[in-house]
Parts: sequence; C-alpha cells; structure tokens
Amino acid sequence: MTETRDSIQDIWGARTPYNGEWPVRIDERTTEEPDHWVQSACVLCSNGCGCDIGVKNGRIVGVRGRAVDRVNHGRLGPKGLHGWEANNSPYPLTTLLIRRKGKLEPATWDEAMSLLVEKSKEQLNKHTSSAIAFYISGQLFIEEYYTLGVLGKASLSTPHMDGNTRRCTATAGAALKISFGTDGQADSYADLDTTDAVLLVGHNLDAAPQQAPGRLAAGPHQAGCPTNAGSGRLAGHRRVGGRDLSRPAGLGSCVHS
Ligand code: SF4
Repeated sequence: MTETRDSIQDIWGARTPYNGEWPVRIDERTTEEPDHWVQSACVLCSNGCGCDIGVKNGRIVGVRGRAVDRVNHGRLGPKGLHGWEANNSPYPLTTLLIRRKGKLEPATWDEAMSLLVEKSKEQLNKHTSSAIAFYISGQLFIEEYYTLGVLGKASLSTPHMDGNTRRCTATAGAALKISFGTDGQADSYADLDTTDAVLLVGHNLDAAPQQAPGRLAAGPHQAGCPTNAGSGRLAGHRRVGGRDLSRPAGLGSCVHS
C-alpha cells in the first residue's frame, strides 16, 4: 500500500509556503499497485479536485492528485483519498434487510413495506403525526421529491419535512446565481494566491474541505490571515493548520465579518 500521509489523522498535510504559485504536492493512496491510471476528478465535494484513478483488473485500487490541476495542485483530502474504498466493499447491500431479534435478515419488498406501514401506524397512534419527521437528501429528482411529499404530507400528515436541498445545494446555487450570475464557483482558485483581502460572511472556512483554507494559510501574503473580527463562528479560522494566525487587521490581513 502507498500512502503519502495518514489523512484521517493529518487532514491537510504539510504546509507548503509559497510566494507566487501554490506549489505542487501530490497526495496518493493505493491499496495495490495499479496496472494503469485514468484521469478523473473527485466528485465528493464541489471543489472537484483533479485526480488520477489507479486501476487493476478493472477495479479501482487507488487515487493520486493531479499536479496540473488548478484547484488542488495534486492535493487530495481525506474523502478523496479514502472514499473510493467503499466501491470495493466485500459487503455491498444487494438485498433488503430487516433486523429481527438483533440480527439483520434478508427480506422481500412486501415484508419491508409492511413493516414500514406497521411501525408508522404505531407511532401515529401513540404520538400523533408530529412524532414522524423526514430529513431528505438534496440529490433526488423531482418525481422522487413529489413521491416523498405525498408520503409525508398527504399520507402521514407530518409537519416535519425538510431537506438538504433547502439547507445546502439549492440555497447556495440560488445565492450564487443572484450574486454572480452562475450557480457554480464564480472565481478562480488561483485568485487565492494573489488576493490581499478575503471577506468571509457566515462561512466557516476552517471546517471546509482542505483546498481553500490550506491555500490561504500557506501563502506568505496571508501570513496574518485570518483576523478574527468578532464572530464566535470565526474562532476556528485563527487555528488554521494548528497555528494561531490572528493579528491586528492591516495591509495583507484577511478580515472576517
Ligand atoms: S476537497 Fe476532498 S472531497 Fe473535495 S474534491 Fe477535493 S479531495 Fe474530493
């Protein structure tokens, strides 16, 4: 196995201070020696880091960052480095399972749906429809949202239905379109290399995937970044990369609001 770092313990990896262009650092994780590499991109978050997929006998056996990719310059985060391993799980869920006396056992659709109805009725009778809530993915198609709406509202009459669509994807897309005319990131990541000031509003950069905070924290012109301008949510920014980076706002500082 090749592993350039243990990204579970060391999320961002070594800092790569720079002046000018963010240096290349190729992160890699393989469980076997690949026969060949296929150019791709990690799709586990909207950064879309460029990566090569290592293939052996038609199966993925590893990933490595792409040095020429403008987003990550070879770096990959824990999700990118590890997420693919689930594809090779020896225990894929191939059938419905019902837990009986603490043990998961194969079941038919009829059995599973009957159990769902039985348990839902039990909750409705015992606690009313307010005892049932739906928290739904943001990645469904409209027909699926419609079906869930019928189930939750028309059938179970719960007032508690919410989805990741409202909290994440759709709101971000709508806000970006109104502000910048595009529902994707409007700027280039290379801008982070040369910017003198970064204004973060209601955004916890420190908890975001590694590329943006890593790039900001490593740049010499952001040596004082970020400055905590008073919001409790921003306390994490002062600890980017484990270093306390706060200093009074001035030329070259990042000011958060
Ligand atoms: S930051 Fe991580 S999850 Fe997001 S695209 Fe890059 S490697 Fe994948």
